[in-house]
Amino acid sequence: MTNLEGFFKPKSIAVIGASRKEGSLGWVFFNKLQHFGYNGKIFPVNPQATEINNLPCYPAVEEIPEVPELAVILVKKELAIEAVESCGKKGIKNIIMITAGFREIGGEGITREAQLLEVLGKYGMRMIGPNCMGIINTDPEVKLNASFSPTEPFPGNVAFVSQSGALGVAVLEMSKMLRLGFSLFISEGNKADLIDSDFLEFLATHDKTEVIALYLESIEDTGRFRKVISQLSRQKPVIVLKAGSSESGAQAASSHTGALASSDRATDALFQQCGLLRVHTIENMFHLALAFSNQPCPKGNRVAVITNAGGPAILATDAVERYGLSMAQLSEKTKEQLRKLLPEEASVRNPVDMIASANETTYQNTLQQVLKDPNVDAVIIIIVRPPVNTTPEIIAEKFKEILQKKPDKPIFVVLMAKKDEVSGLPIFHELKLPVYSYPEAAAYSLAAMLKYQQQRQKPVSKIRKYSVERRSLNHIFVSAEMERREHLRTMEILSLLQAYDFPLAAGTLVQSAAEAMEFYQKIKQPLVLKIEAEDILHKSDSGGVKVNLKSPEEIETAFELIMQNAHKIVSPQKIAGIFAQEMISGQYELALGMKRDPNYGPMIMVGLGGIFIEIFNDVSFRIAPLSENDSREMIREIKAFRILEGFRGKPPIDLEVISESLLKLSQLSLDWPQISELDLNPFMVDPDRKNCKIVDVRIRISLK
Ligand code: ADP
Ligand code: MG
Repeated sequence: MTNLEGFFKPKSIAVIGASRKEGSLGWVFFNKLQHFGYNGKIFPVNPQATEINNLPCYPAVEEIPEVPELAVILVKKELAIEAVESCGKKGIKNIIMITAGFREIGGEGITREAQLLEVLGKYGMRMIGPNCMGIINTDPEVKLNASFSPTEPFPGNVAFVSQSGALGVAVLEMSKMLRLGFSLFISEGNKADLIDSDFLEFLATHDKTEVIALYLESIEDTGRFRKVISQLSRQKPVIVLKAGSSESGAQAASSHTGALASSDRATDALFQQCGLLRVHTIENMFHLALAFSNQPCPKGNRVAVITNAGGPAILATDAVERYGLSMAQLSEKTKEQLRKLLPEEASVRNPVDMIASANETTYQNTLQQVLKDPNVDAVIIIIVRPPVNTTPEIIAEKFKEILQKKPDKPIFVVLMAKKDEVSGLPIFHELKLPVYSYPEAAAYSLAAMLKYQQQRQKPVSKIRKYSVERRSLNHIFVSAEMERREHLRTMEILSLLQAYDFPLAAGTLVQSAAEAMEFYQKIKQPLVLKIEAEDILHKSDSGGVKVNLKSPEEIETAFELIMQNAHKIVSPQKIAGIFAQEMISGQYELALGMKRDPNYGPMIMVGLGGIFIEIFNDVSFRIAPLSENDSREMIREIKAFRILEGFRGKPPIDLEVISESLLKLSQLSLDWPQISELDLNPFMVDPDRKNCKIVDVRIRISLK
């Protein structure tokens, strides 16, 4: 693990490009650093000044009387490399490169960034940036503001890592209004050297950080990212806002899986596998950060709502249910107590409507009773003013006593008031009660906390290993490569899949109706005949599939018909024959597939198969390697799962055979990186395992 203490807790800092010129970047930066209260030594470096803000200024890094632990570089882009070089010579190990004009501008910038990395490597230095806004550490013992963010955040327990500097600064600004406190702020910039995983590893060990919020545009080294986050998210919640989700992945693809596998789906799959909490708006990132940074996670999904107005309570109830939580059934005892406390017109059932006359004591007593109820896992308190008979500030004061006892159930406040009446905010903040403007936000955050709590409790799931004799399969790829064939032949695919012990329908390639008959007599099952020809990828579209053939006549007619149809579209030398296959009587058609994503690796898919796959889009993805849990969960995610598990009294499908095949597919995809796309569609599934068979296969490889 990279030690980043030198960045976040440096004993001394050189500021290369510090300036006396009011308003300049070097001036803003230097003043922030000084005034935030940093207690280490600061060495301004600027050949044009002898002192800045009463501190001696050095003409060059070489002149500094000691070796600073960190150097921040703010010089012009043309001077940046030189500055790093002199830091290297001086023995400085940690660089924050604020200067822009590198990879982000393209052209010469790309070359400049490469040079920069070379110099870093030469001296064994590490760097944040370039093109970043710097970092902030609010720890009272450090008080480091090495950024030119105009806002200085409150100290708190949320570390915020942002790939965009400007967005990061905007978030700091908003966080002040919401009273969300930060432990660290890291503006990553171009991530030329230190990347997300480095920061995340550091944050895992950073005591002052209990929640992590990430804004990402790209992910470097997805394999490492996955490992780091999988571990980290079991310790601390990691909320991520990943931009670029509208990007379309519908590039020309020859498989169903390829058409459905967009890179945003890969992102989603990966995030889910490593326990990241993905949000799609800045607002939701704040909602979750506020919740996690202040309150314990709920132990169950039963929510109680306390309110002084009916409308917002109905909205809260709707939101609770929409986000998969449920409204708690208050115990008889609680209801009895509430009846004594509240006026006759009040409702003592959940949502507890104390009606408009409620004052601070009503809020206090009601909360106390509801919290005690064993049927309640979390509480949402709605304060609407008007009509509330008191001020949020006075109510907040009344909550102090309850919160001093540190209840282990999360409590959220929904404050619906005019701007000038949100007077209670500082007290709520002090009590660590997150305050939301709308009930939906509270319910949304609670649901995310519950999800996090549940996934953290799940045992770490294994990756099953199948033993496969791979060497004997090499020749398949070698001959496809030599013949420059992008698509493997059916017989080739079948021997590949056989080696992994996939459940395959019995079949053989035949050249005549007589041969097909012979196969029919051998298997004693109704037959399916399919065209096997190069350039015919979708066989049934071209009249190339005939099913359920049960007599010599049917077989003969079907054989002739398929051949006739094929001759209409391809030349005879492209036709390899006809594939004779046993007819499988599975109840439903599933599709399993793989598409290799250039960033994330093999995306494994399961979905409802057959001809409707692309219309219903009912599929789910995970990134290989799949754990046993992944394979089971992804089946449960598709809408068709309800059918598979037994619908209207029908017996359930053998799910284990599907999840095993997904695990095999995951291994096969990692074993053979030349496979770019793979479709097993349909995979016939049935309550009876012997009717669960793959009947159609397609593999595309990338030729070197
Ligand atoms: P393609 O996808 O190229 O059109 P398939 O082999 O998938 O060709 O066949 C098309 C459809 O025919 C399948 O989706 C399935 O409904 C049916 N089918 C094909 N083979 C079998 C089989 N062995 N048993 C039962 N049904 C089959
Ligand atoms: Mg098919």
